[in-house]
Amino acid sequence: MAARILILGGGFAGIGAARALKKADAEVVVVDKHDYHTFQPLLYQVATDLLERTAVGHPLRDLFHDQPNVRVHLDEATAIDLEKREVQFVEMKPIAYDYLVLALGAEVNFFGAEGAAEHAFPMYTLADAVRLKDHLLNKWEEADKDSDLAEDGALNVVVVGGGPTGVESAGALSELYHSNLAEDYPDLHAEHAQITIIEAAPALFGMFDEELRVYTKGALEERDVEVVLGEIVESVERTRVTLKSGKVLKAHTLVWGAGLQASPIVKSLGLELEKGNRIAVGPDLSIPQHPEAFAVGDIAWITDSKTNEVLPQLGSVALQAGEHAGENISRLIAGKETEPFRYHDKGTMATIGRGAAVVQLPRGRTLTGRIAFLAWGSVHLALLSTGEDRTKAVVDWTWAGVTHERAARITVET
Ligand SMILES: Cc1cc2nc3c(=O)[nH]c(=O)nc-3n(C[C@H](O)[C@H](O)[C@H](O)COP(=O)(O)OP(=O)(O)OC[C@H]3O[C@@H](n4cnc5c(N)ncnc54)[C@H](O)[C@@H]3O)c2cc1C
Repeated sequence: MAARILILGGGFAGIGAARALKKADAEVVVVDKHDYHTFQPLLYQVATDLLERTAVGHPLRDLFHDQPNVRVHLDEATAIDLEKREVQFVEMKPIAYDYLVLALGAEVNFFGAEGAAEHAFPMYTLADAVRLKDHLLNKWEEADKDSDLAEDGALNVVVVGGGPTGVESAGALSELYHSNLAEDYPDLHAEHAQITIIEAAPALFGMFDEELRVYTKGALEERDVEVVLGEIVESVERTRVTLKSGKVLKAHTLVWGAGLQASPIVKSLGLELEKGNRIAVGPDLSIPQHPEAFAVGDIAWITDSKTNEVLPQLGSVALQAGEHAGENISRLIAGKETEPFRYHDKGTMATIGRGAAVVQLPRGRTLTGRIAFLAWGSVHLALLSTGEDRTKAVVDWTWAGVTHERAARITVET
C-alpha cells in the first residue's frame, strides 16, 4: 500500500512539501483550517486597499489540480500524537500517517500588552487584513459625520513593530491616507490623520545594515510617518494607546506587527521548544527521535548548516524548507538516506512605499530606492502561487502606480 504523507498547513512550507512530492508513489493529504493559501507578504496591501483579497488568498484545492496524488481537506488540527503517528481534528476522524510534515506557521504574539488582544489589529491572516481595511474606512466615514471624532484621534493609527510588517504597513497606510482618503474626505484635515510607528529597539529594521535603517527612517518621515524608537506599548484601549514612558496617544486604531509565536498545537507534542515556541529540527528538518516527522516554516527552529545561525521566519525559508522536507520523504520512501537542508539566501527585502524599498543581498551588498522597489516587486511576484495571482497583482499595482487609485476602497456588509 502506498505510504500516507500528512501535511498540516497549506502555507508556503506545506505547499512546498506537497509539490516536491508530485512524483512520489504516495497518498499526500493536505489539511488546512482555511480553504485558501494566504500570501502573507502582501496582506498589508489588502488592508490598504491596494490589492483585492483574491490576489492574496488563493483556493488551496486549485493549486493541486495537476497533482493527482494530493487530497485537500478543510479542518483544524487539534492534537498530534507523534508516538501513535496520528492527528486529531475538530471535525474529521483522526488521520494516521506514515510521514508527517508540520507546517502550521505561527500566530500573533502580543507579549502581554494589556488590552492588545481585544483592541489591537494584528496583521497575520487574510481576515486580519480585511478587518483592518473595513475598520479604517469606517473610521473615516464616522469622522466625516462627526468632526469631534477626528479631534479625538479616530483617524490616527499607531503601528507597533519596526520590522517588515510594521514598516510596510505604516508606509502603505500613509500613502492611502495622503493620496486617496485625503481626496475622498476634503473636509477632514491631515493633522488629524497621523500615522505613528513605535519600535522598542533603537532603530527600525534591526536585521538590516545601518545604511538601510537610516534610509528607512528617512523614507517614512518623508511620508509624514512619525517614527518613535526605544518605546514599548504597555496597554491598549479602544481609543488610546499608552506607552511604557507614560505617554498616552490618541488613536482609535493600533496595528500590531511586533511579534510571533508558533502555532499553539506544538504544546501537545511533549517536546522542548525554542524561543517563540518553535520546534528545533535536525539538519534534515526532522523532529528529534522522529525521523518520519518533519517541521518546516515559521513553526520550526532551523539552524543553517552553513552559518550555524537560526534561519528567520520568512516565506523563502518556509518554501525551500518545505520542498526539502518533501524531497527527504521521497528519499525515505525510496529506501535512501535523508540529506541536510541548505538555505539559498537570495536577499531580504521590504518596501516602504511607492518607489522606496530596501534590499539586503548576501555578502553585505545593499540596494535602496526604485531599484530595490523593482527587485522587491519581481521577487514577490515570483513567490505568488499561480500565474493568475501574478497577473492580478501586476494589474492592480500598475493601475495604482499610474493613477494612484485604490479600487478596493469599499466595505461590503455580510
Ligand atoms: C504581514 C507579513 C508580511 C511578511 N512579509 C514577508 C516578506 O516580505 N518576505 C518574506 O519572505 N516573508 C514575509 N513574511 C513571512 C512569511 O509570510 C512567513 O514566513 C511564511 O508565511 C511562513 O510560511 P508557513 O508555511 O510556515 O506558515 P503560514 O504561511 O502561516 O501557513 C500556515 C498554514 O497553516 C494553517 N493552520 C494553522 N493552524 C492550523 C491548524 N491548527 N489546523 C489546520 N491548519 C492550520 C494556516 O491556515 C496557514 O494556511 C511576512 C509575514 C507577515 C505576517
